[in-house]
Amino acid sequence: MGSKGIKYIFITGGVLSSVGKGIVTASTGLLLKSMGYNVGAIKIDPYINVDAGTMNPFMHGEVFVTEDGGETDLDLGHYERFLDVNLSKKHNITTGQVYKAVIEKERRGDYLGQTVQVIPHVTNEIKSRIREVAIETQVDIMLVEIGGTVGDIEGLPFLEAARQMMLEEGPGNTFFVHVALAPVLSTTGEQKTKPVQHSVYELRRIGIQPDAIVVRTPRPLEEEARRKIALYSNLPEDAVFSDHDIETIYEVPLLLKKQGYHILLTKKLNLSYREPDLSEWENFVEKIKKPRKRVKIAMIGKYTKLKDSYMSIIEALKHAGAWLGIGPDLLWIEATDIERNKIDIEDALLNVQGAVILPGFGKRGAEGKIKAIKFLRENNIPTLGICYGLQLMVIEFARNVSGLKGANSTEIDPTTPHPVIDLLPEQKSIKTLGGTMRLGARPLHLVPGTTIHKLYGGASIVYERHRHRYEVNPKYVNLLIEKGLIVSAWSEEGLVEAIELSPKDHKFYLATQAHPEFKSRPLKPSPIYLGFLRAASAFF
Ligand code: GLN
Repeated sequence: MGSKGIKYIFITGGVLSSVGKGIVTASTGLLLKSMGYNVGAIKIDPYINVDAGTMNPFMHGEVFVTEDGGETDLDLGHYERFLDVNLSKKHNITTGQVYKAVIEKERRGDYLGQTVQVIPHVTNEIKSRIREVAIETQVDIMLVEIGGTVGDIEGLPFLEAARQMMLEEGPGNTFFVHVALAPVLSTTGEQKTKPVQHSVYELRRIGIQPDAIVVRTPRPLEEEARRKIALYSNLPEDAVFSDHDIETIYEVPLLLKKQGYHILLTKKLNLSYREPDLSEWENFVEKIKKPRKRVKIAMIGKYTKLKDSYMSIIEALKHAGAWLGIGPDLLWIEATDIERNKIDIEDALLNVQGAVILPGFGKRGAEGKIKAIKFLRENNIPTLGICYGLQLMVIEFARNVSGLKGANSTEIDPTTPHPVIDLLPEQKSIKTLGGTMRLGARPLHLVPGTTIHKLYGGASIVYERHRHRYEVNPKYVNLLIEKGLIVSAWSEEGLVEAIELSPKDHKFYLATQAHPEFKSRPLKPSPIYLGFLRAASAFF
């Protein structure tokens, strides 16, 4: 048995990044969980940032926020959605965290007398972090996805730590999955295996023999390609799996199961085999693939060129859609294009059934979003605002309904005459930007009789995750309420957590300071997204 009886599955990637390791990791987890095992998942990110919070969404995609306020890699979102578990900031290990800890220990004198080196000090730190989370969370199996591509300089200490864990945990207690790309040439239509072979050589050169290879490829893996990959990777053919392009990521666990991936895992890890129960999941996949009707939803934001920036929102809409039998067709609207009059709001929004005002930071695109919001409010189009979306909806209401000319957020215009959105009091003295926002799960006290209260089934307190520095300025709240804005949820400290318009005045006009999308799961969609999509689909 491995230490404390825990098994470790390491997932590495070859050929290029974004090949789909995150989905393979999440799918592996779901298959094991559906056999009755308690599974967790860790993402390793070999960059020097301590967390993903300080990275531009264009670089990195969405920052996924955990219950405990971790600003983590978006793969944790996939793990939470597939595994239906809450992970913590400890489930995302970065080079920055590891080196910070090692250097702090060195300064404290913990390594007194020694030369502090990558091996063993950095690798020991990595291993102890992995084991610590596994033990603390009492999992049977811990998945460890190593970000980046085999061969990257940055990833080497992590791969070395994984190799050492293979030795230390003993036979049958670790399993290595390598996910690599087999492209299909557009000229000849051939499926090429050489890139996969090379990435496996690279892995073996550093002492890791994979136990399974998952081949990402545009079309099903041909037998000849499977045979070649197996031979050159020193593996039997039934350890090579086809992960070809399919309609939805949620189908990947089913695709792997069909090929006996879960059986190989149980055999190699000496786990007892239990028939996976995936009936509800299969049902969900069917619903995603065959919606009864489709609705067009405008997605108004400023990182629309990299859709990964809004990953959890897109997935939350899919979950709610599957529940309702609706397929959301997303129409991406770049807020800066509205500002520059590159698109005409009326043309763009008149034939959508709903719109989401997406979260964001900074000035760019804000006026474009406000213009869109005015149109959506005045034309009775179902509108959902998330975080910055709420703040901009408040600004629009202050300017155009409450008569506060020039109302703004101090994030956008520090000299505004009406700072209806201002820094949270606790933020005013903070000078550093890493990990200092209002983060993680906080209670929302729902006001009876409001739409949000109904959506959450009459609950008086619900917890959703936050990531913001600014808030609705308490000095303006009474005036906004007088003019007809409904504050439908409050924080513990009396901050505005949700706003809406009366259903008498608007089909659906609701915004939250929190990000309910982070807690949406395939089989447990977020009540807010459900309410929004239901409203968007109800009127045609
Ligand atoms: N920029 C806003 C704030 O810091 C909103 C953040 C967000 O949308 N996540 O409060």
